[in-house]
Amino acid sequence: MSSLLLSRRRFFLAPVVLLSCLLFSLPLLAADAGFQQWVREFRQTALKNGISPEVFDRAFEGIDAPDQWVLDKASYQPEFKAPVWQYFDNRVQKRAIRMGRAKKEELQPWLDKIEQRYGVNPNVLLAIWSIESSFGAILDNDKVIRSVVRSLATLAYADPKRSRFGRQQLLAALKILESGDIDEKHLVGSWAGAMGHTQFIPTSYQAYAVDIDGDGKRDIWNSVPDALATAASLLSSNGWRRGETWGYEVTIPERKLPAGKLPLRKWEQLGVKRVNGKSFPRPGDIAELKLPAGREGPAFLMLKNFFVLKRYNNSDRYATAVGLLADQIGGGKGLVRDWPRPFTPLDPAEVEEMQKLLKARGYYQGEIDGKAGSGTRKAVQQFEEEIGVEVQGYPSKEVLEALRERQ
Ligand code: CA
Repeated sequence: MSSLLLSRRRFFLAPVVLLSCLLFSLPLLAADAGFQQWVREFRQTALKNGISPEVFDRAFEGIDAPDQWVLDKASYQPEFKAPVWQYFDNRVQKRAIRMGRAKKEELQPWLDKIEQRYGVNPNVLLAIWSIESSFGAILDNDKVIRSVVRSLATLAYADPKRSRFGRQQLLAALKILESGDIDEKHLVGSWAGAMGHTQFIPTSYQAYAVDIDGDGKRDIWNSVPDALATAASLLSSNGWRRGETWGYEVTIPERKLPAGKLPLRKWEQLGVKRVNGKSFPRPGDIAELKLPAGREGPAFLMLKNFFVLKRYNNSDRYATAVGLLADQIGGGKGLVRDWPRPFTPLDPAEVEEMQKLLKARGYYQGEIDGKAGSGTRKAVQQFEEEIGVEVQGYPSKEVLEALRERQ
């Protein structure tokens, strides 16, 4: 009886065992001989560059194929560049301002210490932290946080456009492991090797990383003080001016204005004024006029610190977003002139009304809270589809009116 049962079991188990053998052998099948050969060759280069065999072998343990996800990310071309208003709405927003203020209170002693040492305004560091990693929230997302060694080896091996970058950064990453600041399990980052709370690539980490909390490790992954001090160290090394702002929102006259950099005094003579009517505190400072959304949008005179912020990420939009968010974390009221938008924005009471109307049509299941999150935007899209207009998903006056008409 029991032996019969056993043999039956064996009989029934056979396909399962076979299947699981097949499944477990999949990673083996996926191993890439070309990649493994490349790793063996790169090992020689690494050893010549002072990486010890033990560190190299530990770093590459279990890495036998490129990471396809990294290659997908690397080849992704967004269909369109986000419109200016959307870029700023996504970064300079209420939640980021609120979180920034809360973090400022929580981290005050560290922020003071960092400011004393590097001269960088804490609000700027908090804004960078928000924009780079949502105050560290992305670091918990396993989908986007990967082994830096594998990601960079993937780029070096399989992405011709980034192979030089990949090799250079991979060597730097191995040197970080060699230094003992972090171990191979925790050396994680984005698909392109940006690491920790403030998203440093390995060579920047090597140039600027700081151990400000004094535990002997420059740990931008787990120590917020270290990560913020590292960002401050980058800005300070690139010429950040203590006690100065990044730029001013200004109004401009109708007539054509010169391009390039001029002293603030000269801009003032040309009719460029601060939006609050105050005069420039240091009229001799050199500034450049920027109109990120053209003449229809806000205008800025950008100072030295704006250009230092671009050393973090070489983009006018990025540096402007950091500056604007920093000012609002510091209590500023935001732009006097809003970004031009293809729709008329709603106030919270109108968003609530919109949510109720969308709910009544069966498109919205979330809270009626006056906050237009992804659920509200999705519901707006469904409604736009229903009425046959361009599907945008913006909670706008235009959509609210269309909803009212169809009550
Ligand atoms: Ca530390």
